[in-house]
Amino acid sequence: MNTNAILVINCGSSSVKFSLIKPASGETLLSGLAECLLSTDAKVTIKQQGDKKTYKLPDPFDHQAALSVLVVQLQQLNLVKDISAIGHRVVHGGEKYSQPTLITTEVEQAISQLAKLAPLHNPANLIGIKACQAAFDCLPQVAVFDTAFHQSMPEKAYMYGLPYSLYKEHGIRRYGFHGTSHYFVANQAAKQLNKPLAQCNLISAHLGNGCSVTVIKNGESVDTSMGMTPGEGLIMGTRCGDLDTGIIFHLVDNLGYSISDVDKLVNKESGLVGISDLSNDCRTLENAMLEDNHVQATLALTVFCYRIAKSIASYSASLTQLDGLVFTGGIGENSSWVRTEIVKQLGLLNFSLDEEKNQATRFGASGNIATKNSRACWVIATNEEFVIAEQSAQLLTNLAK
Ligand code: ADP
Repeated sequence: MNTNAILVINCGSSSVKFSLIKPASGETLLSGLAECLLSTDAKVTIKQQGDKKTYKLPDPFDHQAALSVLVVQLQQLNLVKDISAIGHRVVHGGEKYSQPTLITTEVEQAISQLAKLAPLHNPANLIGIKACQAAFDCLPQVAVFDTAFHQSMPEKAYMYGLPYSLYKEHGIRRYGFHGTSHYFVANQAAKQLNKPLAQCNLISAHLGNGCSVTVIKNGESVDTSMGMTPGEGLIMGTRCGDLDTGIIFHLVDNLGYSISDVDKLVNKESGLVGISDLSNDCRTLENAMLEDNHVQATLALTVFCYRIAKSIASYSASLTQLDGLVFTGGIGENSSWVRTEIVKQLGLLNFSLDEEKNQATRFGASGNIATKNSRACWVIATNEEFVIAEQSAQLLTNLAK
């Protein structure tokens, strides 16, 4: 099977991220983003070899229109012939999918059925799959699931304290997300440790707009902070994370909230933006804290970091050995302040940061930022697109054997 280059598609409800990647070398031939889809502001930006061009999308301003512009550009750049498959990021694979999977009608139906567990994500992923089938009808399409890496979790980590029938009949359990990112950084950490991933014990903190911590034992995910949906666990940009369920009843029974008001509150108006009353963006909050002594920005970041430190510390219950901690995602890769604040609360686990290295490791730099006497603490830039390209290529090679 010629797996020259894989077109990686990450389709959201109003955006499509794409990259054309050579899995053998990791080289990105082209990348871009279509945004504001389904509105008249819809546009697509395509980057290739340092050149960046933006195109307005034609009516009906949808995912198909975005992919049509991409196809024309790929044709003009003579890149279509290099594409051997399309790899799709699919958010929810439920219990059924723990591996990259060739997309067939049956797989599409399963992704559609799983939309009840991921109503914001799986339908958008399916739109991307259908649009790519129309645009590239001869090419195989592969689904790489965000939940797949966490399918190795044991029962004790994925069961909620709810009646067993809700798990058995309705699939209500922890699934976890950001699996592709946790898997990528765990592999990179294994390279730093110079041993196979299967011998590595790690805690990985993916801190972006969405945030999750995963504990990796002998190379496999054994617990993670996100749950049946990405709403559980850490405080995030706009999500509240773990919450006393009694608060929801109080909001509805006594404060006049409808269920859809609560949904909006906990997913869009909480977390960093909710506490700070200023922004969901970590950079804005750090500037407000450091330059203006903004009290609520300081509180938001302090609560954010304490919750992460608590989550990391709690995962020592899953391990008997720990090789190190990994920071990734936009905040984990760039905010030395957040890393300091988290790690200073992890002294009992023998973590301490070399502040010089911590300050220097930002903006795409990677490395171990711990002191000599500390357990390792790496900053690793994540690359989910590369994993999707690599796993799609691997699957197609295996199928061709
Ligand atoms: P997503 O989850 O949408 O992929 P990212 O992983 O890109 O998000 O992370 C976005 C977050 O990273 C934002 O809160 C942003 O403020 C933060 N971030 C990016 N650069 C920096 C920086 N230099 N310092 C602090 N935070 C940063």
